[in-house]
Amino acid sequence: MSCPECIAAASRPHHAFMSNCRGCQARAISRGHEFFAARKAAGRAGTPEVTAYLALIERVGLTHDEVRAAWKADAANQSASADASPGDRHGSEVEGNSSESERAPA
Ligand SMILES: [Zn+2]
Repeated sequence: MSCPECIAAASRPHHAFMSNCRGCQARAISRGHEFFAARKAAGRAGTPEVTAYLALIERVGLTHDEVRAAWKADAANQSASADASPGDRHGSEVEGNSSESERAPA
């Protein structure tokens, strides 16, 4: 981790990448379709999803550990920022409304 995008991504959800940075490439792949599909295939070697993913990281020159580390860092950031904003809720707007129309004339 050495570029500005990686430093920003280390502390919060961040969506910019440097094309010549390994950390950024790992982060980009960890958010990509190939990694998602391989994870869904439960990492079983020999499935098309895992084969495609392994081919991708080999082409880019990354290891699975690097991608996994980037994915875990992202996941930690996302849950941390979700916990950090409890004030954004729009509760209590969905209450009421049902009793008025049911009032029978006396
Ligand atoms: Zn980077």
